Amino acid sequence: MTALYGGIEAGGTKFVCAVASGPGDVRAEVRFPTTSPAETIGRSISFFQEQAAVAPLAAIGIAAFGPVDPNPASPTFGYITTTPKSGWANTDFASAVQRALGLPVGFDTDVNGAALGEHRWGAAQGLDTFIYLTIGTGVGGGGMVGGQLMHGLIHPEMGHIRLPRPKDDDFPGICPYHGDCFEGLACGPALQARWGQPAETLPPDHPAWDMQAQTIALALCNYIFTLSPQRIIIGGGVMAQAQMFPLVRRKVQALLAGYVQSSAILGAGIDTYIVPPGLGNMAGVLGAIALAQAAG
Ligand code: ADP
Ligand code: ZN
Repeated sequence: MTALYGGIEAGGTKFVCAVASGPGDVRAEVRFPTTSPAETIGRSISFFQEQAAVAPLAAIGIAAFGPVDPNPASPTFGYITTTPKSGWANTDFASAVQRALGLPVGFDTDVNGAALGEHRWGAAQGLDTFIYLTIGTGVGGGGMVGGQLMHGLIHPEMGHIRLPRPKDDDFPGICPYHGDCFEGLACGPALQARWGQPAETLPPDHPAWDMQAQTIALALCNYIFTLSPQRIIIGGGVMAQAQMFPLVRRKVQALLAGYVQSSAILGAGIDTYIVPPGLGNMAGVLGAIALAQAAG
């Protein structure tokens, strides 16, 4: 019998919970807004309790917005730690789920989860060094180096790098820690703060998008130079703007200026180098399923 797993994609705006054995076999799925930890985690637990009554689950995976503590040896393993998201700092997440459901729990950042899912089933199959970036309520990046999910000291915080700004641009950015870091300039709420309307209501030809593509391209160049990824996958609500991919690819090529000599980046290669998730808008929750499989 195929083992079934539970996955929680815990985003800053919404949670997605699913029961699945893989992409072709999603048995149940719910989406709901991120409110308080008690309510949102409680709702996730109730969903899995109902599902476990239908068919047993082998393990649960949680792919969470962060910063998180992903170190199993740490006393605060499975916590969301210093997040600026109101009410969520120092939230015990993984062990609350583990205690309520009595199942093994795999826990990592949302982007590492999505990276694992993309590696197993999506756009990163066969690669060993790649990045998964999300641009949504926040900006985050994870992925693999040499076939291992990136952890290290804690986990990468690719959304908080500093980038050169246009001289005449005085938007202060919205990161409570750094102001105009990458996330402070380019997450969905930053677009709303700068342009005075929700990002999804900005028309595709709005000047916001050219500026946004330049910011993203600068960040990608830094990742390409420091990590040498074999591919860069970009998901998250803001990247639902499909016109962004060709713009970002062109700007990355211009900024690299031919310095990185690889057919993967030069010419048409870039079209399969900077890509949306192969698993589409299921990348996050299937990533959580992949984390569950690794834990179960
Ligand atoms: P989460 O961060 O909870 O995982 P998302 O990745 O969907 O959720 O990100 C939500 C953010 O994406 C919000 O700031 C929203 O304004 C923005 N967003 C959602 N859809 C679009 C769209 N079609 N175009 C641009 N921005 C969008
Ligand atoms: Zn920041």
